[in-house]
Amino acid sequence: MKKDKQVTSYALAVHGGAGTIKPGNPEVEAAYHAALQAAVLAGEQVLQAGGSALQAVTASVQSLEDCPLFNAGHGAVFNANAEHELDASIMDGQTLKAGAVAGMRTLRNPVLGALAVMKDERCVLVGVHGEAALAAQHALEQVEQSYFSTEARREQLRTVQAHAGNRAVLDHDALTVSKSDSRFGTVGAVALDQSGNLAAATSTGGMTNKMPGRIGDTPVVGAGVYANNASCAVSATGTGEQFLRACLAHDIHARMVYAGSPLDAAAAQALSETVAPLGGVGGLVAIDRDGNVSMPYNSKGMYRAWVREGQSIQSAIFADVQTAGSP
Ligand code: ASP
Repeated sequence: MKKDKQVTSYALAVHGGAGTIKPGNPEVEAAYHAALQAAVLAGEQVLQAGGSALQAVTASVQSLEDCPLFNAGHGAVFNANAEHELDASIMDGQTLKAGAVAGMRTLRNPVLGALAVMKDERCVLVGVHGEAALAAQHALEQVEQSYFSTEARREQLRTVQAHAGNRAVLDHDALTVSKSDSRFGTVGAVALDQSGNLAAATSTGGMTNKMPGRIGDTPVVGAGVYANNASCAVSATGTGEQFLRACLAHDIHARMVYAGSPLDAAAAQALSETVAPLGGVGGLVAIDRDGNVSMPYNSKGMYRAWVREGQSIQSAIFADVQTAGSP
C-alpha cells in the first residue's frame, strides 16, 4: 500500500479477484499479468484521450469480462444447477448515479447492462426478469449460456460439489478443494480522470456452486461498488455475503468523509474492522481524487494492476510487483 500522497492527473486500478491463490506455474501467472495489464491499458487509453473515469472503468471491466481467465462474462463460474448468473454494477462519483444488473443469463457484457441501467435512470438495479427488455431497449448483445462456459469452470463445479456439498465457494478458494491449477476471479476497476472525477465498476459470475438466484455484493451499491468525488471510488472482491453485511465500499467512503481518514487507512481498516470480523475474505481496489491507489486484501493474494499518468502499468498477484514491458 502506498504511504505517500500522490497527485496525478489520471490514475486507474483493476482487480481480477482475491482468494486462496497458490504461487504456481510461471507461465500461467504471466498470462494473468498480461491480461490485467491489457485491461489497465484499455482504460488508460480512454483517460489519456480525455475520456471520463466512467468510460475508462467500463473499458477495463469489459476487457476482463471478455477474458476467460476471470470469473466474469466469458469464463464465469457455475451455480449449483451448472448455470451462469451474472452480476455487475457501475457508479459515477461526480453525479452519484449508479446502475446494476443481477442474475443476468444472456448479457454478453454485464457491465454494459449496468451502464445502460445507469443511463436509463428509471431505476438503479435490474433483475433477470428485466434482462430481455433492457437488452432490446439499449441494443445490448445477448448470447447463449454456453458462451460463458469453460471446461475449467465445469471441472471446478464438479470438484466443489464432490467435496463441499451445497456450500458456495469463492472462485479462488475452489482451488483449495480442486486439484485444478486454473485460477479465476471477479473483476473490477476504479479510475480518476483528467477532470478530477471518480468512477468504479465491478462484474462477477458470483461464487462456484452458489444457490440459484443468489445475488452477492457485486451489484449492490455501497457493498461491492461505490464512487463519490467527495472521497473515493471502490470495487470489491471476496465472500459476497460478508461484504454485503459490512457495506464495505460505503464504509471506506464514510471513514474518509466522517473521520477524515486518508484512503489507505480507510480501506485497510474497513477490511480488517468490518469484513474480517464477519469472517469475510477478499480485497478491494480504491482510488481517491489525488490519484492515490489502495489495494488491500486479507486473502493469500489478489490479482491487481494499476497505472498513474506518466508511469508504467504495474501488476501483482502476491507482494511482488511486475512492470509492463519488463522481462
Ligand atoms: N464477491 C463476489 C460474490 O460474492 C465473488 C468474488 O468476488 O469472487 O458474488
